[in-house]
Amino acid sequence: MASKTSGASAYTFVDHKFDVVVVGAGGAGLRATLGMAEQGLKTACITKVFPTRSHTVAAQGGIAASLQNMGPDSWQWHMYDTVKGSDWLGDVDAMEYLVREAPAAVYELEHYGVPFSRTEEGKIYQRPFGGHMMNYGDGPPVQRTCAAADRTGHAILHTLYGQSLKNNAQFFIEYFALDLIMEPDGTCTGVVAWNLDDGTIHRFSAKMVVLATGGYGRAYFSATSAHTCTGDGGGMASRAGLPLQDMEFVQFHPTGIYGSGCLITEGARGEGGYLVNAEGERFMERYAPSAKDLASRDVVSRCMTLEIRDGRGVGKNKDHIFLHLDHLDPAVLHERLPGISESAKIFAGVDVTREPIPVLPTVHYNMGGIPTNYWGEVLNPTAGNPDRVSPGLMAVGEAGCASVHGANRLGSNSLIDLVVFGRAAAIRAGEVVDRNAPIQAPNAASVEKIMDRFDRLRHANGGTPTAVLREKMQRAMQDDAAVFRTQESLEQGCKRISQIWGEMKDIKVFDRSMIWNSDLVETLELENLMSNAIATVYGAEARKESRGAHAREDFSARDDANWRKHTLANVAENGEVTLTYRPVHTEPLLKEEDGGISLAKIAPKARVY
Ligand SMILES: Cc1cc2nc3c(=O)[nH]c(=O)nc-3n(C[C@H](O)[C@H](O)[C@H](O)COP(=O)(O)OP(=O)(O)OC[C@H]3O[C@@H](n4cnc5c(N)ncnc54)[C@H](O)[C@@H]3O)c2cc1C
Repeated sequence: MASKTSGASAYTFVDHKFDVVVVGAGGAGLRATLGMAEQGLKTACITKVFPTRSHTVAAQGGIAASLQNMGPDSWQWHMYDTVKGSDWLGDVDAMEYLVREAPAAVYELEHYGVPFSRTEEGKIYQRPFGGHMMNYGDGPPVQRTCAAADRTGHAILHTLYGQSLKNNAQFFIEYFALDLIMEPDGTCTGVVAWNLDDGTIHRFSAKMVVLATGGYGRAYFSATSAHTCTGDGGGMASRAGLPLQDMEFVQFHPTGIYGSGCLITEGARGEGGYLVNAEGERFMERYAPSAKDLASRDVVSRCMTLEIRDGRGVGKNKDHIFLHLDHLDPAVLHERLPGISESAKIFAGVDVTREPIPVLPTVHYNMGGIPTNYWGEVLNPTAGNPDRVSPGLMAVGEAGCASVHGANRLGSNSLIDLVVFGRAAAIRAGEVVDRNAPIQAPNAASVEKIMDRFDRLRHANGGTPTAVLREKMQRAMQDDAAVFRTQESLEQGCKRISQIWGEMKDIKVFDRSMIWNSDLVETLELENLMSNAIATVYGAEARKESRGAHAREDFSARDDANWRKHTLANVAENGEVTLTYRPVHTEPLLKEEDGGISLAKIAPKARVY
């Protein structure tokens, strides 16, 4: 390092030039990286964890595509389910792109080498999943979710990493991206990253930056997501002056293991598992007579919460629900659900062939994120142009919001989102990136601002350790922005999170070193989480309706006339949140007469399962 020991000027840089820099090596980042490299673009992939440790590795249940390997299906049925699952908040063009491209994207994965489970005839095995039905929702459940046992994400991630290496993408592993390098006109020209292993700081200049940093589940106290899911992309976008979209929609998965939050895949219910209350009743039959235990996630989570509230929870404190798999053939459990049988043993001490698993709704997925079009290009809307593209920047995967999941995501629709939009971003970059144009030098003022912030946190010497403030944030989110919400809880949530934002000034970092300083990493992550958290509570407080995962007790109905629109939240440095809105895209890509879905089919109606 240089002679000075603090301040932005204390740092020297290692410089890199690439056509494309992808931040993140989960399913979305790797699919984008692979695609970019295949397009002949010089591509770097930066990741704070080893690629195959990204949260995608934990995805169990599978990936949705209407392959028709197990019975009749069509992209139109998949589209209807996705539109309905989104509670009519998703962008129709993006949803259509997703479901139409899905089968090709899955076959592509197969050809890359993903070891899918097989049917007797050797076709890709598909299982039922929540909210996926035949006949435009009329049912019965359709077998649409392609699976590699209950380790689908693991299989996909390892395959995509191998393929990316084969295509000569360059990996920068255990590099923590700090912030986007921005020109004054709003063009993104690169990213600054910290090599955790040797303490060097790197400036990556690029013609296109792709944020694929995953979700921000760790803003909550109990989540199924990895500790690395800290919304770093959302933090970086906010600090670059860009909005976050639909952040109030946070999905609770019905079956996190009681206590640890570890996920039991919806595939468990897909294979025939069911939920019971303290009276031994299969209560989902009462709430969702048609889809029962396979109603969509927000619905099942709310029903479980109602059962517990009404005193029908199981256990000593009547505060959870039982998931039964013990009626299933042990051979099926062994073949189709080996991973969760192991998780249930480790985290609940339960032998699934004999006893039910104690479960509780647990934070699982963020429908909101950095707004994009269906090519992955980031949007920075203005009043006159709600679809204005922010040059030089893309976002894919859970970090982005295309928006295909709207107010509620269907199970197995995320993995397909990662590969379809990772691929779409690469196709688009292949068109818009000029391979012969020079790569711009990093903007000095922008880099200085980035290093100022880094240095301030590195030397932060207040009175509150990062872990203390983080837990305060997680508790506030868990209490006040939960499965059910009220004006009172949300106002309190805004107040608490704003106060914690102020307390960030008093943070204490104990370790000043540059090498594997996990204290500083967690502090940078906490700042990122806070940008996501504050956008979540303010967006939720403002939205006076119930839609998808956003369930308000004081506004229990969906209000399409006033609220069928996307929330945009700009978070300022001082923690002030400005909310604006942009219209939902309601036009499909294909006209009905050209074989497209009929507009009448996807018109808003009551959402019953
Ligand atoms: C337990 C579990 C099971 C699931 N099961 C399913 C399923 O069966 N089907 C389904 O469709 N969906 C499932 N989901 C959802 C789905 O897996 C996720 O939404 C998806 O994997 C997210 O992928 P991603 O590529 O966007 O991000 P991630 O896989 O989370 O990867 C994020 C990447 O960004 C990198 N990164 C982040 N911040 C930085 C930074 N500052 N600097 C450098 N790198 C950074 C990380 O290193 C990592 O490589 C599941 C989710 C969980 C938690």
